[in-house]
Amino acid sequence: MKALITGGAGFIGSHLAERLLELGHEVFVIDNLWTGKLANIEKIQNHERLHLVVDTILNESVMNELVFKIDHIYHLAAAVGVKNIMDHPVETLDINVKGTEVVLRLANRFKKKVFISSTSEIYGKHVEHNLSEDDNRVMGTVKKRRWAYACSKTLDEFLALAYFDEKKLPVVIGRLFNTVGPRQTGQYGMVLPTFVQSALLGKPITVYGDGTQTRSFAHVNDVVGAIPKLMEEPAAEGDVFNVGNDAEVAINDLAQKVKEMTGSRSEIEHISYEKAYGPGFEDMERRCPNIEKIKKLIGFEPSYDLEAIIQSVIDY
Ligand code: UDP
Repeated sequence: MKALITGGAGFIGSHLAERLLELGHEVFVIDNLWTGKLANIEKIQNHERLHLVVDTILNESVMNELVFKIDHIYHLAAAVGVKNIMDHPVETLDINVKGTEVVLRLANRFKKKVFISSTSEIYGKHVEHNLSEDDNRVMGTVKKRRWAYACSKTLDEFLALAYFDEKKLPVVIGRLFNTVGPRQTGQYGMVLPTFVQSALLGKPITVYGDGTQTRSFAHVNDVVGAIPKLMEEPAAEGDVFNVGNDAEVAINDLAQKVKEMTGSRSEIEHISYEKAYGPGFEDMERRCPNIEKIKKLIGFEPSYDLEAIIQSVIDY
């Protein structure tokens, strides 16, 4: 099988590329190296079944050629990282909306199956329960820039499902919750690599807000294990799946755990969201997936607990 990974030099994309090569596939990667890095694919760059194209997915002639020759598309290219999104709202909307539009239009032209990588952000400000695929979305005001990302990814999902319903294009949507592991950088604001780096350097571990907000972290190996299985499962077509780990942790506790596990003397500090992200930011108090649906369909079971996840980031 020939697979195209958009964003294949990114953190998750590069792990997925490794997984697909292990599964025996021929892998084509397209990445504009905005947040992706050649270093991420260093280990596999010379693999005989790996082909790298450094370009944007908005380049339709390049994409046309790629989509024509592959069997499956894994669409991961997107703006990533809350800090990045807050700093680059135009690029975020541009790549997330137009990029997916190009991918789906070309996929439909050649009738190639597509995995659309979506995000838990689209659930918005729910606090009451673990998030299920059919839950309503609770979005903040358009004056809070953060929600633009959620809206752009929501539009991607609508478009994918529209292609499925109207054009019979086989699509599968995965809503990825906080995914962490080796090669993720703290550069774009992600909490775990940032905490680990600060702890190892003896710098303050900086918690934003009061730190009672929670997240549920999944190891990237678990996530990229699930994605090809969803693509191989015909019953997943035209449907949406949470992909994540349902163990929930408060950011204060995460900071403490990182401090303990690194043996760091770093102080844990709290700063305001305004100071961290600038004006126009709103956080989510809670974000935890209900993963019953993906468990039932492909037998998904997260294999890394929080300690193993943190340890893998420390080791990296
Ligand atoms: N966060 C933090 N310190 C940091 C980076 C993030 O306290 O240095 C917080 C952030 O405000 C959020 C949580 O950690 O409540 C997860 O942030 P991340 O950007 O990793 O992911 P997301 O907000 O998209 O879940």
